[in-house]
Amino acid sequence: MDISKSGESTIAVHGGERRWRGSVTTPIVQSSTFVFQNMEEVALYTAGKKSHYEYGRYGNPTQEAAEKKLAMLEGAECCLLFDCGMSAVSATVFALMKMGDHIILTDDAYKQTLNFAENFLPRFGIEVTVVPMGDYEKMEAAIRKNTVMLFSESPTNPYLNIADLARISELGRKHKITTVIDSTFGGPYNQKPLKTGIDIVIHSGTKFLAGHNDILSGAVMTSRKFFGRIKDFQKMTGGVPDPNSCFLLLRGLKTYSLRMERQNQTALEVAQRLEKHPKIKRVYYPALPSHRQHKLAKEQMRGFGGVVTFDVKGNLEQTLKFLDTLKLCLIAPSLGGPESLITHPATVTYYAMTRDERIAIGITDELVRLAVGFEDVEDIIADLDQALAVI
Ligand SMILES: *Cc1c(COP(=O)(O)O)cnc(C)c1O
Repeated sequence: MDISKSGESTIAVHGGERRWRGSVTTPIVQSSTFVFQNMEEVALYTAGKKSHYEYGRYGNPTQEAAEKKLAMLEGAECCLLFDCGMSAVSATVFALMKMGDHIILTDDAYKQTLNFAENFLPRFGIEVTVVPMGDYEKMEAAIRKNTVMLFSESPTNPYLNIADLARISELGRKHKITTVIDSTFGGPYNQKPLKTGIDIVIHSGTKFLAGHNDILSGAVMTSRKFFGRIKDFQKMTGGVPDPNSCFLLLRGLKTYSLRMERQNQTALEVAQRLEKHPKIKRVYYPALPSHRQHKLAKEQMRGFGGVVTFDVKGNLEQTLKFLDTLKLCLIAPSLGGPESLITHPATVTYYAMTRDERIAIGITDELVRLAVGFEDVEDIIADLDQALAVI
């Protein structure tokens, strides 16, 4: 039976598993190096005539099992795992770019992705242009002779803006530029950017993929065309996941479809209830008709993810009081795990900016981001209700 042709829940359970001596689950191969039987085996391996594990930085069976499962879920030819999402981002850029090249990013990218691009890449002679999310004329106008990469996200943090994946891949093809989408907030259950022609999909596996708030993980999903160069970069520089994390990722992925179904549903219900709440000014969730790219989201997404962002009706002090009054939702960054986590982007993420600077990029005092967990939706809503009552 070809598991890769099965349904997504079946892939999540059985895809890529390396059953060993009758074990139902893939073992954790906690080994940094691998034994050759004799020098003949070494010769066959180095000649490419026999596959073999050699050294942990080059690959590990537990890692490979998780990579195979993820590649099937994403519909990718290849998957490469990293120790975290930012390793996946930086390795992809470094492996595919050189001095004198140009990269275009959208402006509401993940904070450390933008930091890396704007403040670090120029040191290596890589030119960087940041264009407003959703402005495809500006994006095309920014393309130069030396542009090699177009990097965007969808949905974005914290406003859950939606990038037009088909349009970005079309721009990429027209100008022969590699297109990269950070799909962390959507995930393979909700969207498949590779199917729309995007070249490379990146995930912070820390979030929905591993799904338990207990490991850091990153993944690059792509075709063989790009995989080799990124894998070679990892072999050279590291950023490899350890076998224990790979096991936890594999274990987390078995319930991936179940979790996404539940989190999509919970977030939708929370968003709908908050939109009607008298203490809420505005809700940002792609499933709501009030969302700026609702139509586009419906076209390219199956579900809309587990993050709901909203403005409360109050000042900074009242917003902080609301957060402090929550009992079930925990004040913490990240998303995609069992525990509902809530953050205040102005103070948790953008604390280093002045108030004027962050308001200029749309991060207001009253903005709150909720990542719903697996709790009962009524309990999450009750917690929000009792805390909103203090405003
Ligand atoms: C968390 C996150 C990252 C970084 O991933 P880490 O696993 O924390 O390194 C990158 N992009 C997005 C959209 C994220 O949410």
